[in-house]
Amino acid sequence: MYKTDYHVHTRHSSDARDTMRDMVSRAAELDIKELAFTDHIEINEGGLEFHYARLKAIYEDILQCREWFENKITIRFGLELGQGIYNPVEYQRVVNAFPFDFVMSSIHRARGQEDYCERHYEQKNVDEVLLEYVREIELYVDELDFDVFGHIDYPTRYLQKYGIHYEMEAYESYFISAFRKLAASGRGIELNISGLRDGRMAMPSFRLLKLYKQNGGEIVTLGSDSHQTQALGLKYEEGIRLLKEAGFSYLTTFENRKKKRIKI
Ligand SMILES: [Zn+2]
Ligand SMILES: [Zn+2]
Repeated sequence: MYKTDYHVHTRHSSDARDTMRDMVSRAAELDIKELAFTDHIEINEGGLEFHYARLKAIYEDILQCREWFENKITIRFGLELGQGIYNPVEYQRVVNAFPFDFVMSSIHRARGQEDYCERHYEQKNVDEVLLEYVREIELYVDELDFDVFGHIDYPTRYLQKYGIHYEMEAYESYFISAFRKLAASGRGIELNISGLRDGRMAMPSFRLLKLYKQNGGEIVTLGSDSHQTQALGLKYEEGIRLLKEAGFSYLTTFENRKKKRIKI
């Protein structure tokens, strides 16, 4: 199997600590053939000027690792752009500033709120949290330039972590609408398998993954969302199994933002 991982962080992300070289070495050991680095750029923190030095450092690492690991593994220059809707103009300036292979858009916080990882969850505010989140998805799909939407049911990571009961069925119309628009525009979603490592669900859930497929979804990347070398490769086969069971036969990879299908 041609293994790909399209969601990997390095110490260029504030919540990760390993070097790009360490991540690539480990991925090569695991026989991962293609790795897309997707360090965080949070648009709510600032635009191109604010992030420029870090983007340049990431790009230099990419070029260096391509040299070091030539013929061993394919390294793609991606990024995970958070909160693009805060400033679509600066978002686009970032996308245009470097020769990215792959652009993933994510929502880590709703406008005017704390990050979902830092919020206080209670059973009584679950509907409020989910509604606020799902309402933003379509804005991202309509207004921003990206290849895949990252962890598209993101708040569920924390709702599960804190044992809050939720019923996503009530919000499925928002996802269906986004899925149809993504499919019509030749874009897609990722299957983020980070939750599987912690005994929770992948993002999106299997139910939403099937719904994506039923609504025309074809483009899907597989991402571990690894923030350290030890996370790489874990639960990979389970991710592939979920994709196959949901009806997918291909993963998608990106070079210079051009798609390629990989049989699974
Ligand atoms: Zn993320
Ligand atoms: Zn991430």
